[in-house]
Amino acid sequence: MNYYSTNGSAPGASLQEAVVRGLAPDKGLYMPEKISRLPKEFFDEIGNSGLTDIAKTVAHAFFGGDIPKATLDKMVADTLNFEIPLVKVEEGIYVLELFHGPTFAFKDVGARFMARMLSYFVQEQEQEEVNVLVATSGDTGSAVANGFLGVKGIRVFVLYPSGKVSDIQEAQFTTLGQNIVALEVDGTFDDCQSLVKSAFMDEELNSQMNLTSANSINVARFIPQSFYYFHACAQLPKQELDTVISVPSGNLGNLTAGLFAKRMGLPVKRFIAANNRNDVFREYLQSGKYSPRASVQTVANAMDVGAPSNFHRILDLYGHSHEAISKDISGYRFSDEEIKSAIKRVYESSGYLLDPHGACAYLALKEGKKAGETGIFLATAHPAKFKETVENCIEKEIEIPEGLKAFMKQKKQSLPLSREFSQFKNCLNSLRKK
Ligand SMILES: *Cc1c(COP(=O)(O)O)cnc(C)c1O
Repeated sequence: MNYYSTNGSAPGASLQEAVVRGLAPDKGLYMPEKISRLPKEFFDEIGNSGLTDIAKTVAHAFFGGDIPKATLDKMVADTLNFEIPLVKVEEGIYVLELFHGPTFAFKDVGARFMARMLSYFVQEQEQEEVNVLVATSGDTGSAVANGFLGVKGIRVFVLYPSGKVSDIQEAQFTTLGQNIVALEVDGTFDDCQSLVKSAFMDEELNSQMNLTSANSINVARFIPQSFYYFHACAQLPKQELDTVISVPSGNLGNLTAGLFAKRMGLPVKRFIAANNRNDVFREYLQSGKYSPRASVQTVANAMDVGAPSNFHRILDLYGHSHEAISKDISGYRFSDEEIKSAIKRVYESSGYLLDPHGACAYLALKEGKKAGETGIFLATAHPAKFKETVENCIEKEIEIPEGLKAFMKQKKQSLPLSREFSQFKNCLNSLRKK
């Protein structure tokens, strides 16, 4: 299948080109030419199917024309080597736990799939070595670094703001070694992001090395996120037609994948976009006006995004109709105080422990769900990743899972970097020659 750019002035790209490039040459986002409806038999049987089988069918609909079936099936199975259970929290409200992967956050799904797909292109399709650049405020870096660890033909550079990510997060991408290089930038997350952007714009660098992005602009990262929406509906006790799904939103990659799933026939009535104080998307849903702005820091920091990168995919998907978009999605916003008190309240009333991102989605679901509707919200990170915040809310110590502790025991390896692009460029050049 070919991919077109949302900006409309780049030529169509093959899957391989779209994945290796990340962003289209006209700076638009790649979209698949077709989003097929899945057959009725798939939905008739969905309640009896497991995560991997469901995901194989969905993956086939997108990538079946480009990757041999056995290879694609293996990619899916290797990606999803952990569970994604749907758990009842209270009457009519379920949580989809997306945090059972190796870095305890939902980004494991997209990052692990993208690593395998890129590795297929490098190993089977004579693609030259690829260098993945990723700026992170925490979770993206860990999921991408762990997803790509040890994959031949791919080197990953993780840029992160020194002193501004939690110890657990830092340990998850600075202790790996092998093909993962952690660059500790003396600056903010925005500085890291602008270094990455400058590298993508630098013709000299691009002519010497294949640079690509592993954030959710990449089709190989965001499309696989549609897998688990089908698995969520499959796990509901009855196949209900009045289901609404609430998604904690930042760059809107997760929500966009859900909207793709709906286009493929996912039996949900509508989506709810949960925002923290960075509510540019909620404002758009209400007013039809999109006004990106600088982000502010909140307790749900993976959603601190002022200019959501997948917004234009949503516009494109709905033919730029605000009416159609706001019919399928409603938006709500919550302050840090509201998020923190929800963590405490839900823990005390049901014993269920939320992380700040899941708590924001829970609140949005409570507000947006009508009586008689079944609600699912997505829990995108394990509460232990936000240990301090969560412990302050419930006034109790929480357990860190063994898998998370293991990262903390390894030795940190990172290269210090200033905010100067010339230094970053020299660094890429010197590492390239090794
Ligand atoms: C990245 C992230 C989000 C936001 O997802 P988007 O696809 O960027 O909207 C929400 N929660 C957690 C824990 C994340 O890491």
